[in-house]
Amino acid sequence: MKPRVRFAPSPTGPLHVGNARTALYNWLFAQREGGTFLLRIEDTDPERSLQGYEEGILEDLRWLGLSWSEVSRQSERLQIYRRYAERLLDEGRAYRCYCTPEELAEMKRLQLAEGRPPRYDGRCRRLGEAERRRLEASGRSPSLRFSVPQEGETAFKDLVFGRKAFRNAEIGDFIILRSDGWPTYNFACVVDDHLMGITHVIRGEDHLSNTPRQILLYRALGWDPPQFGHLPLLLGPDGKILSKRHGAESVGDLRQMGILPVALANYLALLGGAVKGDEVLGWPELIGRFSLEGISSKQSIFDLKKLLWLNRAHLRRASGEELKGALQALLTMPPGVEAYLEALKDNASTLLDFPKLLPIFLEEVPPMGEDALSVLKEEGAQGVIEAALEELTGGGKEGWIERLTERGLKGRQLFRPLRAALTGRTEGPELRRVIELLGEERLKARLDAALKLIRGGQG
Ligand code: GLU
Repeated sequence: MKPRVRFAPSPTGPLHVGNARTALYNWLFAQREGGTFLLRIEDTDPERSLQGYEEGILEDLRWLGLSWSEVSRQSERLQIYRRYAERLLDEGRAYRCYCTPEELAEMKRLQLAEGRPPRYDGRCRRLGEAERRRLEASGRSPSLRFSVPQEGETAFKDLVFGRKAFRNAEIGDFIILRSDGWPTYNFACVVDDHLMGITHVIRGEDHLSNTPRQILLYRALGWDPPQFGHLPLLLGPDGKILSKRHGAESVGDLRQMGILPVALANYLALLGGAVKGDEVLGWPELIGRFSLEGISSKQSIFDLKKLLWLNRAHLRRASGEELKGALQALLTMPPGVEAYLEALKDNASTLLDFPKLLPIFLEEVPPMGEDALSVLKEEGAQGVIEAALEELTGGGKEGWIERLTERGLKGRQLFRPLRAALTGRTEGPELRRVIELLGEERLKARLDAALKLIRGGQG
C-alpha cells in the first residue's frame, strides 16, 4: 500500500524550523515511496488561529519546494467531529462533564498540594441521571470527556523511538469536544487521520505523550491506528529549544538571511539522520536517500554555521538561471543577468550578497569602496592604471592583460590596483571573468574614473 502522510500545522504563529523539518520529512517520505502528502490546517483553537499565519505557513512551505495534493481545514469539519463524539457518547465510551473551569482549577490545586499528578478525577463519569438534569437545568453546558480505561497500558512501536508504553491509569479522562462544540486536538486528529487514510503519522516529539490517548481513541472507534514516528526536538547549540536567540527560529528568518530552499532541505535532512552522509545533496538525492529507519532518536542541534556552509556549496552548484529564480523575490534584475550571477556565485555566502556584488556588472562605474580607494592611492597604482588605459585604448580587450604583462606589470602589483579600479572592491569575482563580461567602453570609463580619483586625491 502506498503511504499517505500529512503535515498538520496549527496556524498560531510563523512556521518554525522544527515544523518545517516535520513537513519536509513527510514530503520526502511520500516522494520516495510514491505516496501522497496532504496538508491539514489544525485551526480548532479559534482564539489563537489567525488567517495571516495560515497563509504565511503555506507560503513558506511552497518556498521550501513542497507541494501537496489537498488542503483541509478542521474548522470546516466540525459536524464530522460532533458525529463521532456522539457515537462515543452513545456507546458509553465518552460522558458529559459539567465541571466549570473554576472547579477544574480547584481540583488541580488540591492534587498538586497533595503531591499527586494533576489529572481529571472522573467525577462526572459517575453522575446519576437526576444529578445530570439538575446541572443542565442550572444552565451549565457540558463538554464531552473520553472514558480512558483505568487499567492496563497502551503501548506502540514508534518508528524512531522504538517501543513506548504508557500506563492508562496515568492518562486521565480527557476532553474530546469542548462545551462550545469544538473538538480538541487529540480527537480531531484521530478522526481526520482515519478518514483521510493516513498510514504514517510523522510529527514532533512533543506529541509523543498524545499518542497513547490517540491510540485509545482509535480502539474505541473500532479503527486501526496508523504507524507513528516522532522526530526529536530541534535544539540550539546551548541545548535549549531552538529560538530567536540562536540566530534563527522560523523559516521566515532563514529566508530573510538569504538561505536557498534546497540548502535548508539538505541541512534538515542530514540533521536528523533521515539522509545519511555529510554532503551537498540536491532534491533528487534527498528523495532517493530518505529513510525513516535512519532517523535518530537523539535530539538534534541546529547549527547555523553548518547551514551557511551548505548554503555556500549550493550557491556554487546553482546555475545563473536558478540563482535568478531564487533572487526574483529580493530584487529586480535586467535580462542577461544570469552570466553575472554565475560569475559572482563563488563570492556569495547567501543570496543577500548578490545585491552587494551586482553593481560590479550593472553600474556604469560601481561605487568605490574605502579599501579599494586606498589601494589606488598606493605608490605605483597610478602608473598601472595609466598603462592599462593606454593598452586598452590602443589594442582593445583581446590580449589586454598579456600586453600589460609584457610591459613588466604582473601579479599583485598589476591585479590589485586593476581590481580596485574596475570593481571598486579589493576582493570579488575573478578579474578575467569581469573583463570578459564588461564591454570596452565600461572598462575605459572605470579606469578614467579611477584616475580622476587618484589625481584628485593628489591635487
Ligand atoms: N497541529 C499539531 C501541531 O502543530 C499537529 C500534530 C500532529 O501532527 O498530529 O503540533
